[in-house]
Amino acid sequence: MASPKAATRGEIQTVCGPLAPANLGMSMIHEHLLCDVTPPELAAQGLPAVEITPWNAADIRYQWIRHYGNHILSNIDEMAEEARLFAASGGSAIVELTVQGIKPDPLGLRVISLASGVHVIAGCGVYIESFAGEALTSRSTDELATLMIDSVRTGIADTDVRAGIIGEIGISAPATNGELRALTAASLAQRETGASIIVHPGRDPLSPLQVIEHVRAAGGDVSRLVISHLDRTFSTAEQALRLVETGAVAEWDFFGIESSYYPFAPIDLPNDGMRLNLIAVLIARGYGAQVTMSQDICTKTRLKRYGGHGYGHLIENVMPIMRLKNFDGSMIEQILIGTPRRLLTLV
Ligand SMILES: [Zn+2]
Repeated sequence: MASPKAATRGEIQTVCGPLAPANLGMSMIHEHLLCDVTPPELAAQGLPAVEITPWNAADIRYQWIRHYGNHILSNIDEMAEEARLFAASGGSAIVELTVQGIKPDPLGLRVISLASGVHVIAGCGVYIESFAGEALTSRSTDELATLMIDSVRTGIADTDVRAGIIGEIGISAPATNGELRALTAASLAQRETGASIIVHPGRDPLSPLQVIEHVRAAGGDVSRLVISHLDRTFSTAEQALRLVETGAVAEWDFFGIESSYYPFAPIDLPNDGMRLNLIAVLIARGYGAQVTMSQDICTKTRLKRYGGHGYGHLIENVMPIMRLKNFDGSMIEQILIGTPRRLLTLV
């Protein structure tokens, strides 16, 4: 395609160019389509890539950090097919947050978008230091901010594919100096570009509020800051309430992971029903417009091709449960359309 023009304030910026917010439908706000999130310790073992079959799929799905290759999504034709299935389920847009450190492929995202008809909004920035290494440690705050601003204004890396959101910015527990520089840089880039920020917090219930305070102190707009992965970060509604009281957005994005086993830390993961019960508490307290839901797909075993639930899971399987649990129809629309539309519209 011809090089698309940049989106301006009041528009959404997809990998194929500007999109009128009114044309954004049901959106997954935190996903990956092309990435390599192989844990560094696993990559270091030098294992051959596992071939996923019906005989080993359940084991790989359960023990999802032991099998090299499961964390690599790189086949553009296969991923376009997964995106087409998302569109067939009623999905409109996928926010793709693969940043430096987990192998972004912005031109590949454009191919997938054109082949599937799904709007793809790309993120930009740098992932946690254990993955990103020198991409983070060698850069100053200003260099990181320039990286993010250029990604939104002119294109990611040396492509003409522009980012529409900043993040996921990776934060560890405790946060490293490089990660904190990236968070300051994201706040500066947000002010320059009007894009929202989405953060992968540390695996510590204290991390989300520390991130919010850091962004606020750096002059960022906390109402346009999303804290991802609360599924493995918080265990109580009180923790989530303290987050939304700051004005930031609370994200549960492990929908579709129904196993309680979390290989990275001794945390019991909730299932979809338990996630919805926590979200219902926030809605009842009046914070429904500060909740986002997604699936954070970044392994093969979660794809339809390998026996997984695919990108349409929330729409096909979770929305009916929301209705059974008496979530208001307008609140379901708010979470899956209204809030993504607000966050993705450049201001
Ligand atoms: Zn992610």
